Amino acid sequence: MASKNLTYICQNCGAEYQKWLGKCNECSSWNTIEIETINNKYTSTKVKGNKVKFANLTSCTTSQARVDTTITELNRVLGGGLVAGSAVLIGGNPGIGKSTLLLQLAAYMATAKIGCAYVSGEESVEQMRIHASRLELDNSPIKVLTTTNVNDIIATIENSNEKIEMVVIDSIQTVFIPDIPSAPGTVSQVRAAAHELISLAKRKGMAIIIVGHVTKDGQIAGPKLLEHMVDTVLYFEGDKGNNFRILRAVKNRFGNINEIGIFEMSEQGLVEVTNPSSLFIAERKASISGSTIFTSVEGTRPLLIEIQALVSPSHMVAPRRAVVGWDLNRLSMMIAVLATRYGLNLHSYEVYLNVVGGLKVIEPAADLAVVCSLISAMYNKPCKNDMIVCGEIGLSGEIRRVNNINTRLKEASKLGFSNAIIPGGSKLNKELSFLNITEVHHVKQLQSIFAELQTNDNTA
Ligand SMILES: [Zn+2]
Repeated sequence: MASKNLTYICQNCGAEYQKWLGKCNECSSWNTIEIETINNKYTSTKVKGNKVKFANLTSCTTSQARVDTTITELNRVLGGGLVAGSAVLIGGNPGIGKSTLLLQLAAYMATAKIGCAYVSGEESVEQMRIHASRLELDNSPIKVLTTTNVNDIIATIENSNEKIEMVVIDSIQTVFIPDIPSAPGTVSQVRAAAHELISLAKRKGMAIIIVGHVTKDGQIAGPKLLEHMVDTVLYFEGDKGNNFRILRAVKNRFGNINEIGIFEMSEQGLVEVTNPSSLFIAERKASISGSTIFTSVEGTRPLLIEIQALVSPSHMVAPRRAVVGWDLNRLSMMIAVLATRYGLNLHSYEVYLNVVGGLKVIEPAADLAVVCSLISAMYNKPCKNDMIVCGEIGLSGEIRRVNNINTRLKEASKLGFSNAIIPGGSKLNKELSFLNITEVHHVKQLQSIFAELQTNDNTA
């Protein structure tokens, strides 16, 4: 029987229900709805408020004090450093390296005499020391708190004699407020704990970095509902089988979204990758069909990425289409455009598409490169080695212009690429006129480009 104090809450999105359901109506996830006790004392509005002063927009300063994190890639993603009094959420799968990054950050900052506290609910001090010594950071003066009681954390930081400018909460799923009867990691706990900790940060003018795990397990509250409470949301992407890690800003009140930072996981922890373009195409083999180089722009940074396609005959009624690093629906769309507007039918072929290096491409500007890879794979005709491709494709087969075309071409020319297929009507800088540029308005025009290419004899 549901009493007044009990309610059913989706652990993924925070939606509330009167009764238990197998599937959440709000976020469509299964088995995420759990019973929680609501503390009426905590949520009631009976408490009288105090009168506060109105602020004046014209008399406040607009410059934000930023703390240099000493990690260039992190500074870039944050929009130029950590803003004092801001709240940052770092989400990502367990084991991806969130704690490693933050431990390195805390160590660098502590060494630079910037007061920072590390609240570790995941590891004990001994475990943290082992972790730090693996990263050769065990001599850094980091202040570690291993309590998970939010009231204790707040009291400790509030009454600390030393100035604390940054606090790391690792992770929000392990801390709890004793007044709330639910277990740590449930929606009510996560929401209330985050609220209290963010308020503390705003009050003290210190930056707070909150770690949130993303799991499919319904027991742990997903950081979706936290995203609304913080100023900046960063996602740490990558898989365990790959050494590259990408830190991506998906929300940022103080900078560009979609800005990325690239790291490589090594034995000494995360190492910044300063020239990612050359790295992502380093292992590319020459004259292989189905491979195209796409110049993407993530945030403000140009990046050269190899897109590979493979087609193989299939006897299935619905042949397999598989994608790594791109959108499967978008691939289906490109296959349909190729069939109707170009005249290349892939309905009796399996199609595989892979973005090399474990990257995820979100931009529609990759369409043309995907299509070129598919045509190249189908006819076994390798594209020119020093050629880059970018352009968005519409359903009628038209090729649309993309943003930052000059940035893209400049990055490509820097790495020795001299041929480019780009959308027609692109406004190019004069300094790029040395490039051999082919402008295309419709996918049909690719026919003549591929007709000139040689068929590859050795398919090895
Ligand atoms: Zn939900």
